[in-house]
Amino acid sequence: MATSSYTDTRLLINNEWCDAASGKTIEVINPATGKPIGKVAHAGIADLDRALEAAQKGFAAWRKIPANERANTMRKAAALVRERASDIARLMTQEQGKPFAEARIEMLSAADIIEWFADEGRRIYGRVVPPRNLAAQQLVLKEPIGPVAAFTPWNFPVNQVVRKLSAALTSGCSFLVKAPEETPASPAALLQAFVEAGVPPGTVGLVFGDPAEISSYLIPHPVIRKVTFTGSTPVGKQLAALAGQHMKRATMELGGHAPVIIAADADVELAVKAAGAAKFRNAGQVCISPTRFLVHNSIREQFEQALIKHAESLKLGDGLVEGTTLGPLANSRRLTAMAKVLDNARATGATVATGGERVGSEGNFFAPTVLTNVSLEADVFNNEPFGPVAAIRGFDSLEDTIAEANRLPYGLAGYAFTKSFANVHLLSQQLEVGMLWINQPATPTPEMPFGGVKDSGYGSEGGPEALEAYLVTKSVTVMSS
Ligand code: NAD
Repeated sequence: MATSSYTDTRLLINNEWCDAASGKTIEVINPATGKPIGKVAHAGIADLDRALEAAQKGFAAWRKIPANERANTMRKAAALVRERASDIARLMTQEQGKPFAEARIEMLSAADIIEWFADEGRRIYGRVVPPRNLAAQQLVLKEPIGPVAAFTPWNFPVNQVVRKLSAALTSGCSFLVKAPEETPASPAALLQAFVEAGVPPGTVGLVFGDPAEISSYLIPHPVIRKVTFTGSTPVGKQLAALAGQHMKRATMELGGHAPVIIAADADVELAVKAAGAAKFRNAGQVCISPTRFLVHNSIREQFEQALIKHAESLKLGDGLVEGTTLGPLANSRRLTAMAKVLDNARATGATVATGGERVGSEGNFFAPTVLTNVSLEADVFNNEPFGPVAAIRGFDSLEDTIAEANRLPYGLAGYAFTKSFANVHLLSQQLEVGMLWINQPATPTPEMPFGGVKDSGYGSEGGPEALEAYLVTKSVTVMSS
C-alpha cells in the first residue's frame, strides 16, 4: 500500500486553521519507524483565549439553529467522513500505528456515530407536567449546557473525539477539544468535515499543546460549562477534582482492567476467536481490552493452547503494509511500560508462553504475549497493562472468580463465555462493570451506553444518556394572567 504524504496540523479557531501565536510546534513521530513525519502547532494561553472567545460565539450561533437543521449539518459531515475514510485512515496509521484496516473501521464507525447522534438530537424532549392550579402551565425544558472542553487520548484518535463531539453538537453545545499531540492529523481531518459541512465559526475548535497547561486553563475558565475527558484514572481524578472545584459538569471515561470469565461450559473456540481478536486489537491499547483471563480449570489448558496459537498467527508490522494484523505500540512510553510488566510477571512466577519481548530495534514493536500461571500479586493482574499482553489464571468456582473480577477498583468492561442461563444471570447481576459482553466480542454501538463505574469514571458516551450529559433542565411555570 502506498504511503500517502502526512500533513502538518494547525489549530482550528473560528473555522480557520492557524499556527500558534508563538509559532511553537511539536514533532509527530511514526511509531512504526521511530522517525518524525510532521509537526503540530503548540497552543499557548493567547491561542486558548481566542479559542474560548470563538467557542462562546459558536455556542450562541449553533444553539439557535433548530435541531433538524443541526442534524442535517451533522449528516453532511458524516458523509464527508465516510467519503474520506481511507485517506484519513492512512494518516491515522502513520501517526498511531494501528493496521490500516482497523483505522478505516474507526473512520466508518465515526460516520455511523455522527449519524446516530444527529438523529437522536431531534428527540431531545422536555415535558408538560399537570399543574396543581389549572390556570398554570408547567414546562420542563432541556437546554444545551454551553461550551464544552474535551480532552482525548491517542489510542483512538478519531473515535475518542467523535463520541464527545457528536453528543455535544446534537445537544446544541459548542465544542473545543484538546486532541492528542501524538496523533493530531486524523482528528483534524474529522473536524475539517464539520467546517465544510457548514457549522458556524467557533462551533468546533481544536487545540494542541501541553495537556496540563491547557486543562488547567480551560476547566476553570468561565466560558466552559462542561468537561469531558478520556484517559488514565490518575489524570481523570485530577481533572474531575478541578472541575468539581469550579462546579463544572464532568464526564470521565477512564482506565479499565476487563475480566474475561470463561466458564466450564463455554464454547472455547468462540472464546478464543472473540476475546483473542479483541485482546490484540490496536495492540491492546484499548480501555475495554480484555486483560484478565479467568478460565475454568477443566478447559484452561485447551484455552491457553488455542490463544497461544492465535497470538503466534498474528502478523506484526507497519500498519500500512498489506497483511499486517498487529501494529507497533503507539509511543515509546508503552515499550518501557511493557518491559516493566514483563519483568514483574517473570519475577512473580508467570510463564511467558509466547512473546514477551520487543521485536527489532526500530519502531515500537512488541510481540503478542500470552502469560500463564500468573500470580494475583503480579502487576499485570492489578494495573491496566494497555498493551498486547493476555494474562491467564484458572478458577474452580464461578462465585470465587466473580469476586476476583470485582476485586480491583476498575469497573469498565467485562466479558464472559458460558452456555448456561443461570451463569448469565449471575454474571449480569454481580459483575461490577459498566459494560458486559457475553458470548461475543465488544460491540460498542452508539445506541448503547458506554462508560464505567468505580475508578473507571462516570457518565456515558452512548445512548440517550450521552446527551443528558450535555443538557441542563429548566423548570418553567406560567400562570395565565
Ligand atoms: P497519561 O496518563 O499521561 O495520559 C493519558 C492521556 O491523558 C493522554 O491523552 C494525555 O495527553 C492526557 N493527559 C495527561 N495529563 C493531562 C492533563 N493534566 N490534562 C489533560 N490531559 C492530560 O499517560 P499516557 O502515557 O499517554 O498513557 C498511559 C496510560 O493512559 C495508559 O496506561 C492507560 O491507562 C491510559 N489511557 C487510557 C485511555 C482510555 O481510552 N481510557 C487512552 C489512552 C491512555
